[in-house]
Amino acid sequence: MSAGLSSGQDAEGILGHRAGEAIAAIAPSLEVIGTAINGENKLLLPGFFNAHSHSSEMWQRGIIPPLPLELWLAQLYDFAPLDLEKVYLSALGTAVETLFSGGTSVVDHLILIPGKELETIATAVRAYKEIGIRAFVSPLIQDESMTAGIPSGETKQNHEAYFRSTQATLELIEEAVRQFHRPDEGMSILVAPTGIQLCSDALFQGCIELSDKYNLCRHSHLLETKAQEKLAQEKYGCSAVEHLGRIGYLGDRTSLAHCIHLTDTDIAILAETKSTVVHNPLSNLRLGSGIAPILKYRQAGVNVSFGCDGASSNDSQDLLEAIKIGSILHNITDFDYQHWITPRQSVEMASLGGAKGLNMADKLGSLTVGKKADLVMYDLTSLSLLPRTDPIGLLILGRPTNAVESVWVNGKQVVANGKVTTINVDDLRQQLYDHSQWDTKRKSQTVAQLEAYYRTVMDLL
Ligand SMILES: [Zn+2]
Repeated sequence: MSAGLSSGQDAEGILGHRAGEAIAAIAPSLEVIGTAINGENKLLLPGFFNAHSHSSEMWQRGIIPPLPLELWLAQLYDFAPLDLEKVYLSALGTAVETLFSGGTSVVDHLILIPGKELETIATAVRAYKEIGIRAFVSPLIQDESMTAGIPSGETKQNHEAYFRSTQATLELIEEAVRQFHRPDEGMSILVAPTGIQLCSDALFQGCIELSDKYNLCRHSHLLETKAQEKLAQEKYGCSAVEHLGRIGYLGDRTSLAHCIHLTDTDIAILAETKSTVVHNPLSNLRLGSGIAPILKYRQAGVNVSFGCDGASSNDSQDLLEAIKIGSILHNITDFDYQHWITPRQSVEMASLGGAKGLNMADKLGSLTVGKKADLVMYDLTSLSLLPRTDPIGLLILGRPTNAVESVWVNGKQVVANGKVTTINVDDLRQQLYDHSQWDTKRKSQTVAQLEAYYRTVMDLL
């Protein structure tokens, strides 16, 4: 950005130039180049990372009844949007809500429309480029059919073959990388096998190879539910973490959403491999998945960042809300309050933690000269941030509304005076309205078919 910016909080100025991408200087007073921005009564922070989401779930937020992940997923896929226009609109919606809750980056574990996989990716890429958020598009892939994700217990199960071969899936991802992976322009493609519950070792191996060949980050769900913990034992005879470690999937470019049902040995493996845990507390509560042992991760030196997860298990994309709940939730899991997460630590996890998990800590995640200017400026005179106390404490522990004043991504301003400058949000609202309808009686066929089986294998009868 071509602007001198002074923060009333610490009377420092930040100056960015060189066509605007990076922070050029930080000092109490700076020569103004271009437009000066008045930072009085403003709080400037590095942009946060919405480090795990599924944008098209926006179309089903609020409608799925209280169900555990495996049954919730069955319902989600029964009604997944199949048209590209909806993919486009929900990507924009996810981006807007992320920007307005402190985020400048989104990891979209993108659900692909069968038969239109590359088009789905192209559509999300187009939406994120238009709005100008930094995007990590992570096409969600698997090579086993849905029922394979539920442990078989005593029963013998035959699962239908998945409709697309492992090889075809890997070729698809490689093509997406060729077409869209431009990290310097704020658009990255990740390899993102959904998780051990629906992926073969061949798919993981293929993803590792692509990741090594193109220097791509890796992103997966990991041990979100008790069912997955049980399934890993059935599938591998060891924990999922041990298995993923053995095949070489873990590492400092690997981020893992949820990580709820891990043993102390598993935690040591995550620390040793420098893998990142993405904490999605609202989704974990909503689906009854459990509470991730975040304080144990922090004590073991495992990097942790925050995500909203998809909007139908949250049911929003309010990153500040996820950060708040994801921080104070652990005060009830550890009696020793000296381990609890402080608001400043929450800020660091949401920013630098997110950057580390995407292998970009040298370029993003803090207000440091030379780093990319991904910045969020909060208005400390917003009603929700008054009266004047500790602005960071109130931002994290309070309920900030309409508090984001300006946002810059890669030095380009995408929110000014509390309004998105790159797209027309009123038009987006109208489109979301037009492409949906009120519906309070929806029923899922697949849930009806699966429920008795799920209850049997999970000892709920
Ligand atoms: Zn997820």
